[in-house]
Amino acid sequence: MLIYNSLTRKREEFKPHEEGTVKMYTCGPTVYHFAHIGNLRSYLMEDVLERYLRYSGYAVTRVMNITDVGHLTSDADEGEDKMLKGAKREKKTVMEIAKFYTDAFFADCAKLNINTPDIVQPATGCIDDFIRVIEGLIEKGYAYIAGGNVYFDTSKLDKYYVFNDFREEDLEVGVREGVEGDENKKNKADFVLWFTRSKFDDQELKWDSPWGVGYPGWHIECSCISMKYLGEYLDIHCGGIDNAFPHHTNEIAQSEAYVGHEWCPYWFHVHHLNTTSGKMSKSTGEFLTVSLLEEKGYDPLIYRFFCMQSHYRKSLVFSYEGLDNARVAYGKLVNRIAALKNEGEIDEAAAAELRAKFKSALDNDLNTSLAVTAYYDVLKAQTNDKTKLSVLEEFETVLALGLLDAAKKQSEEKVEGDPYILDMIAQRAAAKKAKNYAEADRIRNELAAQGITLIDTPQGTKYTKE
Ligand code: AMP
Ligand code: ZN
Repeated sequence: MLIYNSLTRKREEFKPHEEGTVKMYTCGPTVYHFAHIGNLRSYLMEDVLERYLRYSGYAVTRVMNITDVGHLTSDADEGEDKMLKGAKREKKTVMEIAKFYTDAFFADCAKLNINTPDIVQPATGCIDDFIRVIEGLIEKGYAYIAGGNVYFDTSKLDKYYVFNDFREEDLEVGVREGVEGDENKKNKADFVLWFTRSKFDDQELKWDSPWGVGYPGWHIECSCISMKYLGEYLDIHCGGIDNAFPHHTNEIAQSEAYVGHEWCPYWFHVHHLNTTSGKMSKSTGEFLTVSLLEEKGYDPLIYRFFCMQSHYRKSLVFSYEGLDNARVAYGKLVNRIAALKNEGEIDEAAAAELRAKFKSALDNDLNTSLAVTAYYDVLKAQTNDKTKLSVLEEFETVLALGLLDAAKKQSEEKVEGDPYILDMIAQRAAAKKAKNYAEADRIRNELAAQGITLIDTPQGTKYTKE
């Protein structure tokens, strides 16, 4: 498999440290609020990467942290602790907020068919590990104490800016205007490993440490949690592109200083989902969440399909129009799959041919949009339905679009539906197609008068009866 590696800025053949096994780490969410669908784009693409590695025969162990302490509103050690901000907003404790939004995150993931990593570790559960590694870094001369905090000394490294796209001036980007620089730092790029002097008196979660009562920096969490479960050699590290600097740069600095050799050779970064007006945000504009999409009548898997139709290394603009197009395409695929009969003998040669295109698409830097076109090739192939269904089932273990389930549900409902209502629904669909919306509304109202409510879903129109 060829994969683009942000560290070398090249597509490279993926070769794990130990043949046949992959150790994979993902930066988890900061659980101070719901994830927006941009955050979830990163987790969706990482989920496909994990599923495809497993499909390709690797034994994958995947670890994810949950950031429930230490992430400040600026990624560069400035601003308020995000968790505290969330707790104040909702007048709850930090741990209540963490629990609520961790559950909400995994509920969203489940709706999007995102598998839960093998190990999920909240940062607050590993304070002793952080302290041990920070002590090691001080002993090895890579960290210093200043003004009560412990800092990583970036001048001790041969090379700090490992992701070449990021230069020293970029550090300024992470520092909010009007926030003073930290005078304790020896070098501008140095970062905090352990805070004892929070800029906020009421920091809620604090722990005893050799340097005083305080709390860990955000970056040390990921280095320690990864090493705790996956050892000194990690194969692939994932995250959104904004994490490359300073977060991943700092993770590499700490981890390699600590273990004394290269730590992780492959870095997989997902580019951003933006809105038509720019950056996606939790505080300005429409706060786009999975629940909001559901409220607007979209099945979350339509969003998964929407994401799979573009490459993870291109930024993607979200619009309802784009999502509507995805819904139409998804509905058509479901209809075509629902029409397949589970009959015939699997034609192995035909299946292998159909599989080849899918695999070559994903082997080429996880080209999911091309992999989606492989579904269409299956549907129009000159082979029996049983072969088609079996190949599609295989594809679904990787892209997990929920198409087969939706098709199955549709076939079952069709059989069970009231023929009169189904006929009215078909007439309404035909009227809508002909842009005769008055007629479509008339049919809806006629049914409503009989206590029958129509609901438009990605799998077609459903109904409820009083
Ligand atoms: P956070 O909860 O802020 O730590 O972010 C969780 C994940 O979402 C990280 O991997 C981020 O890099 C990623 N992320 C943040 N914003 C976006 C976006 N607009 N599109 C895609 N991924 C994002
Ligand atoms: Zn991380």
